[in-house]
Amino acid sequence: MKNKKYIFLILIILLVQSSFLLSAQYNIVKRYGQLSVKGNYIMSEYGDTVQLRGMSLFWSQWMPRYYNDSTLKWLRDDWRCTVIRAAMGVENDGYLENPDREKEKIETVVNAAIELGMYVIIDYHSHEAHKNPEAAKKFFGEMAKKYGKYPNVFYEVFNEPLQDVSWKNKIKPYSEEVIKSIREYDPDNIVICGTRVWSQMVSEAAEAPINDPNVVYTLHFYAVSHGQYLRDEATKAMDKGIALFVTEFGDCEYTGDGTLGYQQTQEWFEFLDKYKISWCNWSVSDKIETASILKANRDLSGWYPDDLTPSGLFIRKELISKNTPLYKKGKK
Ligand code: MG
Repeated sequence: MKNKKYIFLILIILLVQSSFLLSAQYNIVKRYGQLSVKGNYIMSEYGDTVQLRGMSLFWSQWMPRYYNDSTLKWLRDDWRCTVIRAAMGVENDGYLENPDREKEKIETVVNAAIELGMYVIIDYHSHEAHKNPEAAKKFFGEMAKKYGKYPNVFYEVFNEPLQDVSWKNKIKPYSEEVIKSIREYDPDNIVICGTRVWSQMVSEAAEAPINDPNVVYTLHFYAVSHGQYLRDEATKAMDKGIALFVTEFGDCEYTGDGTLGYQQTQEWFEFLDKYKISWCNWSVSDKIETASILKANRDLSGWYPDDLTPSGLFIRKELISKNTPLYKKGKK
């Protein structure tokens, strides 16, 4: 009889503890709160060093179907994503031609992320954003006005500038202008800036960084094409004091297709973990190419292993093994 009582008590304790663990994982924003930047790191409101891991959606104008709550919820619950990147296509039948249509997709994803307690990146998915700063300023001003009070949101103001655009003369002044329109409404959420050569030349930004305490710089890589030389570039930038966020990477070739490089990606994972660099994998898509996590024509959620591509299986495994519940004894 006494034993029964103890077993019951232990069961209750286990139940309470596991629900705490789950809620810590399932509402990462509650756990970390308002993020900020300190030296090379993203910090939580409570002083933790934060490394977020999650998925990037595909260009919004070409793959709108995964811009919905049920996909996000599945990515949170089954994949343990703590961050989602909404990649709003700007040119090529994107936001510039259909502002309301594209903005609505982004808002659907941001609203879902807020509801689900996930971090979310509002990504201006463009290679030539500096040519039309007015459009970006208008868009990000609206986003900051609407979402600046939520700790969930990051603003990525320029996905991938091309090779021949100077950081100092073009990308930086553009980013500063857009940041100004964000800061009118939102004084503190983190802004992510792109760098030259498809967001690879982060050391150029580190030499002339933007004067705002909550800015990080994005580094993009495709593991089979970009290896040690790019990690050296990242280290060089961090040595100068800036923080990085890999808002997009592929486990394949730079085209998003070709070979899947398990070993090369593993080397990057080790590097990212060592420096606590947050990441989003490219991409939530059923386009027939190596980078996609889904085989063609799959449902919006509830995926079985057979629905996933080799890349989907590989990335999901990494997310599940690393994004474990963040419970520390004695800590709130
Ligand atoms: Mg804010």
